[in-house]
Amino acid sequence: IVQYKDVHKSFGDVHVLKGINLDIRPTEKIAIIGPSGSGKTTIIRLLMTLEEPTEGDIIVDGQNLWKMESGKGMKKASEKHLGIVRNDIGMVFQHFNLFPHKTILDNCVVPLVNVRKMKKSEAVELSKQMLDRVGLGDKYESYPTQLSGGQKQRVAMARALVMKPKIMLFDEVTSALDPELVGEVLEVIRDLADNEDMAMVLVTHEMDFALEVADRVLFLDEGVIAESGTAEEVINESDNPRLQDFLRRFR
Ligand code: ATP
Repeated sequence: IVQYKDVHKSFGDVHVLKGINLDIRPTEKIAIIGPSGSGKTTIIRLLMTLEEPTEGDIIVDGQNLWKMESGKGMKKASEKHLGIVRNDIGMVFQHFNLFPHKTILDNCVVPLVNVRKMKKSEAVELSKQMLDRVGLGDKYESYPTQLSGGQKQRVAMARALVMKPKIMLFDEVTSALDPELVGEVLEVIRDLADNEDMAMVLVTHEMDFALEVADRVLFLDEGVIAESGTAEEVINESDNPRLQDFLRRFR
């Protein structure tokens, strides 16, 4: 459903991604692990078209997100093509990104009505279902400031899920949370991984969690995918010294 072909990304002189090749299959659950600064977030942001690649192709559902214009560098594909991406991909960020002045319910309803042009009554119905699913059925009329970090993150998930994405991206969604709130968020992701057909890409420092839910783990190191395999192969069996060193610090 997604292909990265020899994708490079530089910020000024800093060459962050150095040739990423990656196929994401339709129902696959992928965890990306790696040291701070190795480019994990950048991989995800490129897919959301929040950053542009310096070189290479990123293809979603057969549509190339960028085209090279001779002499001018990369240019975003047409709005029509990008519309496909926005419809297909949901993202949950480290810092929630909720609308602070809207209720929890409206945080989910408004994008459905404005972006998806769904009827308000249908949007409300669907949003309530999804908020129930993430365990917030009693919070429809609360505002984000009234919730804990874990609850906010569950709203962010519900808001992405109502759009029925084909791919969900989770960027270190537990790293801004107090330790006692991490479990409830991972529990929702685990439920999704077990019960939903969509592809999922998780950038995470939770190794045991990655081991449990991911079909495939990628170890990103200095801008390249240094290891790729089942969670068991990468986390428990690899003898790559840099990976071992990384795991020692995070387990
Ligand atoms: P972490 O685990 O700390 O979040 P990461 O693996 O997700 O790290 P990225 O956030 O992808 O790493 O960043 C990779 C490198 O790119 C870092 O050195 C970062 O400073 C740099 N970088 C990221 N975004 C920008 C930007 N907009 N401008 C300049 N440099 C950037």
